[in-house]
Formats: sequence, C-alpha cells, structure tokens
Amino acid sequence: MQAAIVTVGDELLAGETVDTNATWLAEQLVARGVDVERITTVPDRVADIARVVNEHNAEYDAVLVTGGLGPTHDDRTMAGVAAAFGRSLKPSDAVLTWLETQGGYARDDLAAGTTDLPRGAQPLHNEAGVAPGCVVGSVYVLPGVPEEMKAMFERIESDFSGSVTHVTTVTADEPESALLDRFEELTDRFDVAVGSYPGEHVRVKIRGTDETTVNEAAEWLTERVVTA
Ligand code: ATP
Ligand code: MG
Repeated sequence: MQAAIVTVGDELLAGETVDTNATWLAEQLVARGVDVERITTVPDRVADIARVVNEHNAEYDAVLVTGGLGPTHDDRTMAGVAAAFGRSLKPSDAVLTWLETQGGYARDDLAAGTTDLPRGAQPLHNEAGVAPGCVVGSVYVLPGVPEEMKAMFERIESDFSGSVTHVTTVTADEPESALLDRFEELTDRFDVAVGSYPGEHVRVKIRGTDETTVNEAAEWLTERVVTA
C-alpha cells in the first residue's frame, strides 16, 4: 500500500511549528508496512489543499491530511478536501449528536461550521478536542493538534497495511563514495535496498521484506567495510 501525507498550515511553512505530525504518521505507517511516497506541506488556502489532495488521491492508495480543521477563518482543510472531490460542505448530524452526547457540548456553544464535513464523508469523532475529522474515499482528514491527531489515527490505523520492511544498520568508517562498489555488489547478491547516511560515521541502512535476507546482507557487508 502506498500513502501520501499532507500537512496543512502557514505556520509550518513559516518555520514556526515543527512538522512532528508528518514524522509521527510516517513512522506509524511504515511500521504497518505502508510505503510513504510523499510528505507535502501546503498553506491554509483552499485551492492549494484541493489541488494536492486531488493529485495525491489519484496517485496513491491513501492520503492522510492533518491540520486546519475547525470553524475559524484560517481553517480551510475541509473546504479544500470537499473541493478536491467536487463536493460541498454540509453540517454533519452524526457529529452534532456525538458532540452533544459524548463530547459534553451544548449545540448553542458550537461555533457555526464546527460540524461541517464534505458531503457524503464518514465522520471521525475527536476524542481529545472538538473539530471532527472525516474519511472521504481513501482520504483521511485528521486534526493538527498532535494529541487529537494521534487519538484519531488510532481509530483508523487498521485501514493501513502492507508488507513490513526489515531494516538493519551497518556502520562504516570510509568515505561514502568509496563504498559504492560494495553497495552495487550487495544489491546484486541480495534482494535488498541500500541507503547510506553520512555523518561522523557512514550509516548504511539495508532494507528488505525478508528478515533473513536482510541479516545475511548485513553480515556480508560488515565483513567488507572498514570500521574504526
Ligand atoms: P483546532 O481544531 O484546535 O483548530 P486544527 O486541526 O485546526 O486544530 P491547526 O489549527 O492547523 O489544527 O493547528 C493547531 C495547532 O496544532 C498548531 O498551533 C500547532 O501547535 C499544532 N500543529 C498543527 N499542525 C501540526 C503539525 N503538522 N505538526 C505538529 N504540530 C502541529
Ligand atoms: Mg485550527
């Protein structure tokens, strides 16, 4: 399964908020065996949200969108997702009932627009806040507040699956460029992917779907690199 993550918010693009939601979601999805193919951040603008959601929805099996929920003027995500599907927004009776019965809110205390979802969307209730999320087709819309987002993701996580990738790291103390011949031979010999991440040492990450193969590849490489 291939997924894309879209985080919404001017504050993310301004460098004011660190996009921990994207990192957390990517980690959860990868742990479930999902290939995360894109992480895209867009401003609080309906047209930008709509375009990216529409493109990613066409390309990937699932799209997870976070941020910009709720009824305030800079919360444009529901309008953007609705536009991506060519639908209008509509107050959700199911959300209103849930907020009244489970959330402890009085109807009159809710700001106008609080329960608006794209027409036909399946609501996702917010256990840790007010603004509801939703599912439209294979697009999942979650809140921006990390605790709210995490609580909501836990309700839908079983929708995401794939073959889990095993990863082993080998550390090498050689210039990255010097390692290229061994990387080539490694991927010829074993059904694995290899990535190298330079720093104080070069961390070589070997990934594959078969754990034994990954371990054998790591052993093979360990015997052939220089370590300090
Ligand atoms: P609310 O319903 O409370 O308005 P929301 O879904 O509209 O929530 P935002 O308004 O986009 O979410 O963001 C609320 C707060 O959540 C931000 O001020 C920020 O602290 C945090 N937040 C939003 N997006 C992210 C993100 N991608 N990573 C980490 N924190 C985030
Ligand atoms: Mg908001």
